Amino acid sequence: MSEKTFSLDRAELEKIAEKYPTPFIIYDEKAIRGNARTLYDVFSWVRGFKNHFAVKACPNPAILKLLKEEGMGVDCSSLPELLLSERVGFRSEEIVFTSNDTPAEEFAEAARLGAIINLDDIGHIETLEKSAGIPELISFRYNPGDARTGNVIIGEPKEAKYGVTGDQVVEAYRIMQKKGVKRFGLHTMVASNELENSYFVETARMLFELAVKLKEECGINLELVNMGGGIGIPYRPGEKAVDLKYISDEMLKLYNEIIIPAGLDPLKVVFECGRLVTGPYGYLVSRVRHVAEKYKNYVGLDACMANLMRPGIYGAYHHITVPGKDDLPRDHIYDVTGSLCENNDKFAIDRNLPPIEPGDLLVIHDAGAHGYAMGFNYNGKLRSAELLLKTDGSVELIRRAETIDDYFATMRFPGAPVTI
Ligand SMILES: *Cc1c(COP(=O)(O)O)cnc(C)c1O
Repeated sequence: MSEKTFSLDRAELEKIAEKYPTPFIIYDEKAIRGNARTLYDVFSWVRGFKNHFAVKACPNPAILKLLKEEGMGVDCSSLPELLLSERVGFRSEEIVFTSNDTPAEEFAEAARLGAIINLDDIGHIETLEKSAGIPELISFRYNPGDARTGNVIIGEPKEAKYGVTGDQVVEAYRIMQKKGVKRFGLHTMVASNELENSYFVETARMLFELAVKLKEECGINLELVNMGGGIGIPYRPGEKAVDLKYISDEMLKLYNEIIIPAGLDPLKVVFECGRLVTGPYGYLVSRVRHVAEKYKNYVGLDACMANLMRPGIYGAYHHITVPGKDDLPRDHIYDVTGSLCENNDKFAIDRNLPPIEPGDLLVIHDAGAHGYAMGFNYNGKLRSAELLLKTDGSVELIRRAETIDDYFATMRFPGAPVTI
């Protein structure tokens, strides 16, 4: 069962807040590294195992660098993500480029970097060929349609805009074979924030069986299968984390049953997990500005939906703790809000908390993935700082907070010269 704890107490947080005013997100380096090592340990039976961290989950160079040190690659889906990864030092096949509706110049950039290009559609072959030529290694994203059920966040596969269909997939590889490609990968991503272990085992089965089919029908010996991301985390206390060891053990059984007899060994198995890697280890720290009694009781924070929009857009649960009040009964019920002129700007609705006063610090848990990254400037809200709680206990600023000048930077004020 997940326990929602935070290693810093109120006094330590107040000290950090003196230097870096709230709100901020703070990531726990030690926990991120420990978790990464567990993942690599569990899948050590895979030759060349890699997790290509989905950059969109936490696009910060300091975080990417420490993941690189732990042996991870990256999964990019846009030109800025590719360039960010390059600047951090990721090279060639450490980078997977999985995009959809992809502009030609992004294919060109991915090809320049020597990234593993993962095509979303048969029609993209032409765009790729024209903009970047045919690479040595190609992968396709497979969408199983009716063959699989999806989940709430990503939806049913057959409703999803991604990937080549069951009818197209063999043809897609044939076309690339004819164009001279010799090295192939196969990718899928059919779930998001999924906590059911068996879902990932079934995904492995689906990809392994398709690998055999591609061998039988096209004579292709796939080099790698990419399970995508989507491994969930227990946002609610009491939810159970995914059992990586179980998934790995079951995948190994399938590998022995399906891949080895087909003569496809060694086949690399990789993931593109983002949430699993940083999600639980980032904390949004915010100070209470006001406590208001209306038809309901409200706690108003100095953070808002622009700092973490998951509750607002998905109704997602994020656990909240109040350092210094951990031992008080959670016997008050509040909506915890930000200051946007949007009534869905709430971090929690009808949440049981200890009694809250202005000045209290609140810690919003599991904000380490798809948190800061989804931030926006609506209502003139400025993005917060990101901090790293280092393994030695010191705190490092890894992204400063935005300023009004940042907010004004792209605006053209009346009379100002035109810049493009
Ligand atoms: C978003 C995404 C991921 C990462 O998903 P998580 O839920 O963060 O693990 C991986 N691959 C692709 C193609 C994605 O779009």
